[in-house]
Amino acid sequence: MTVYSGPVFDMAVNQFAVIADHLSIPHDERDRLLLPKRALTISCPIHRDDGSIAVFEGYRVQHHLTLGPTKGGTRFAPSVDIGEVAALAIWMSWKCALVGLPYGGAKGGVRVDLSSISKRELESLSRRYMQEMIPFVGPHIDVMAPDMGTNEQVMAWFMDTYSMYQGRTVTEIVTGKPVSSGGTLGRREATGRGVAHLARRVLKELAIDLTNATAVVQGFGNVGSYAALGLHQFGLKVIAVSDHTGALHDKAGLDIPALMRHAGEHGSIAGFSNELHFDPAQLLTLACDVLVPAAMERVIDANVAKNLNCRVLAEGANGPTTPDADLVLQKRQDEIFLIPDILCNSGGVVVSYFEWVQDLQQLFWEEEEVTRREYHILDRAFDQMVTRARVDKIPHRTAAMAIGVEKVRAAKITRGLFP
Ligand code: GLU
Repeated sequence: MTVYSGPVFDMAVNQFAVIADHLSIPHDERDRLLLPKRALTISCPIHRDDGSIAVFEGYRVQHHLTLGPTKGGTRFAPSVDIGEVAALAIWMSWKCALVGLPYGGAKGGVRVDLSSISKRELESLSRRYMQEMIPFVGPHIDVMAPDMGTNEQVMAWFMDTYSMYQGRTVTEIVTGKPVSSGGTLGRREATGRGVAHLARRVLKELAIDLTNATAVVQGFGNVGSYAALGLHQFGLKVIAVSDHTGALHDKAGLDIPALMRHAGEHGSIAGFSNELHFDPAQLLTLACDVLVPAAMERVIDANVAKNLNCRVLAEGANGPTTPDADLVLQKRQDEIFLIPDILCNSGGVVVSYFEWVQDLQQLFWEEEEVTRREYHILDRAFDQMVTRARVDKIPHRTAAMAIGVEKVRAAKITRGLFP
């Protein structure tokens, strides 16, 4: 038992045990690699619009400090607790190491139902969260970014709040900012674009014609919507999407650019069409070539995994597949090509890294350069994962995580244990 114990943290622990066994990591080394280095819990009081005071609980977990600053998003969602945040921080570590970024993993969050607060209250909460975090973060200590329930505007408020306390503009304190405030071109699209790029690559390797291929996307936030758009632009028919309000299905392929405009204006896919409604519970098991879970963790359990009807499972969300489901996927690996989360959605943090580098240098790149470099890093990590899986005869997730864990471990071993 640790303070983090709970269903999501236990999942990160179970996954790590598989990797540690595979790499024959001695037992006395395992806690050093797995347990978060430090964590902060805060309470964020804000004035409600009606004059009352509301207090929200917030967290930030920094997993390891071995390779440089820590990096990871901040989520605003009702499900947030310290265990979930810790698990997400651990996954960030393996993800950053896998793609070769000089960061440890971090994650933060506030337990809040966004539908219950106004835009002004959201600004107060965002600013208070960052203000409480000042002793714990910094451009060379811990760099935040968006995650579920946060966006460019929230990042701009974070950056502004931090900067006001420093007495100067410190754009490099967070990534995922608006381009008008030190953000980089291509960051908004980066995660979804990376998902679509890797899915396209796998389809090509499987000799599946892109223009005859179909895709299903669960979640239509930043990741899901840009993944759907990318797949649509690559010629696939996106036949179903869902968000927290419901699901839409169209065998002929949904008009994704129009759906994105609708979601941008109305905040969700609700109201886009009266005819295309579909049962969200059936979405993940629809027959398709590419399935992109891009909503929540743990949506694919063993039962769903048995009934998946896709050729490629491209994990846009963090932790969408439970360890039990992984055992099923392992048996079905000739039928379903898994692109595991820490690779599949890593385009986001890769371009966050580019944003941080550009902010530190005050030298900004064209969007083509951002995307070209993003794809280069994703392709390199993909090749490493596939080779490792083949050589070691292990599933893709195990291979991807093994590469990440190994890099963190190597750095810890060469730096030694202080004092
Ligand atoms: N929240 C995103 C993730 O889980 C992005 C993190 C970042 O850009 O630092 O990968």
